[in-house]
Amino acid sequence: MLVTDSKELLPIFIAGERRLGRGDESATLYPATGEVVARLRAPSAADVAEAIVAADHAFRTSGWAQRKPHERAAVLHRVAALIRGRAEPLAQRQRLDNGKPISETRNLVASAAATFQFFAAALETMEETITPSRGDFMTMSVYEPMGVVAAITPWNSPIASEAQKLAPALAAGNAVIVKPAEVTPLMALELAAICEEAGVPRGIVSVLPGRGSVIGDAITKHPLVKRVSFTGGTSTGKHIARIAADKMMPVSLELGGKSATMVLEDADLDHAVNGVLYGIFSSSGESCIAGSRLFVARKLYAAFMERLAAKAAALRVGDPADERTQMGPLITGKHRDSIEGYVKLGLSEGGKLLAGGRRPEGMLYDRGNYYLPTILEGLRNSDQVVQQEIFGPVLVAMPFDTEEDLLAQANDSIYALAAGIWTRDYKKAWRIGRAVQAGTVWINTYKQFSISTPFGGWRDSGLGREKGRLGIQQYMEQKSLYWGLNDAPLPWAN
Ligand code: NAP
Repeated sequence: MLVTDSKELLPIFIAGERRLGRGDESATLYPATGEVVARLRAPSAADVAEAIVAADHAFRTSGWAQRKPHERAAVLHRVAALIRGRAEPLAQRQRLDNGKPISETRNLVASAAATFQFFAAALETMEETITPSRGDFMTMSVYEPMGVVAAITPWNSPIASEAQKLAPALAAGNAVIVKPAEVTPLMALELAAICEEAGVPRGIVSVLPGRGSVIGDAITKHPLVKRVSFTGGTSTGKHIARIAADKMMPVSLELGGKSATMVLEDADLDHAVNGVLYGIFSSSGESCIAGSRLFVARKLYAAFMERLAAKAAALRVGDPADERTQMGPLITGKHRDSIEGYVKLGLSEGGKLLAGGRRPEGMLYDRGNYYLPTILEGLRNSDQVVQQEIFGPVLVAMPFDTEEDLLAQANDSIYALAAGIWTRDYKKAWRIGRAVQAGTVWINTYKQFSISTPFGGWRDSGLGREKGRLGIQQYMEQKSLYWGLNDAPLPWAN
């Protein structure tokens, strides 16, 4: 681990060196107690420029881009092995950094290792194509690394979302500037240290933590940055897209969501109740794919909601270090204030509370940013609290009457990231699964992921896709090669 003493200032990765930034000092706090986990100094504007210029230099001179795919893949395999070798301390550190329960941070660490392993395999087996020629030449489609690319990430699942960008970007042969969320910088720093230890040349990975509106903006605008892969809120994503338009720079944007979970009349109720609870309340609802809009067939509605509310009230909210904890604290006090504001708004719009709607009481909760799992009903799909992303443990439930009514409501959102369907009828599942507008649809399951399967959103939920074998090409430029095979000169000039 990089640091154990919270009084010491943590170095960051600038221009191939581990050193203190020259910008503002900030501290990361344990959301369960408010204690300082680590202190660091953000990069200054000069540090940002230096890191990007050095990354470009490393890209051109270190030989990383020129290594054969199997050679870069071997380094990525070593990264995966190092993450696995340090899985427990990393999971503990991630818990301290963002307050997620330890059972969850262990999964995030395992997923980060698997991501490096997957992209190592994808890189080693990636094929370039000989395309059907239409003349006396051979045609090929090949891919080239882009140079310096940036990965800007949010605070909700740091090590997993950082690995999801870093692994394919490195596999592609690029230099990568990582800008983690200001409140959760630790996992990106750990990953950079691991990459260096695994054999990624110095300067190929830089980590520039700090305020997004300053550091993130400077990275996005820099002319040497050839691509930004962003995960975060929709308004930030649109801001980045505007800058990218001026630079003609490709971006991928993984943005917000307000995903519909649909429980049909013939659903297996035990599965559906557990699935809906997991979909919204795991990660304390701080998840882009949280199933935060629930539609239940009217005939089932009352009985279903009674069971759901009772189980929500029994969820174990508490100490993230306890293996049995299902919901930890929220990331910051400010974020909890925003969630409380949304619950008030829902009540003012006519909503009624079926569960939660307040902070838990007792010594354990005094110093942390805790909030109870909350269910609101009695609202319309058009209400603000049903349309806006809350990014917390708040579920809004509504009955529906017909399949047509269900689809009209489910698709009536600016977001289209994910959806869930609970039914025993495979024909209905097929119809609704194809008609619902979302990047990912889960049928009789929810919030399951494979790194091998593309992920991304429609509409205001994003642009582009991450994961999957094609994830590497997102960080590359495609090039077509024509090889002339004719012994005679081109006839036109004759
Ligand atoms: P955010 O405020 O948009 O921040 C995301 C990242 O962007 C942070 O590193 C942030 O830095 C940085 N940033 C802020 N302003 C910037 C700017 N002008 N230029 C460049 N970077 C800038 O989002 P958040 O509150 O951290 O995360 C919650 C949001 O992320 C939710 O909407 C959630 O749905 C979405 N999310 C989406 C996915 C997905 O895969 N679709 C996954 C997870 C989360 P600071 O730390 O300084 O703010």
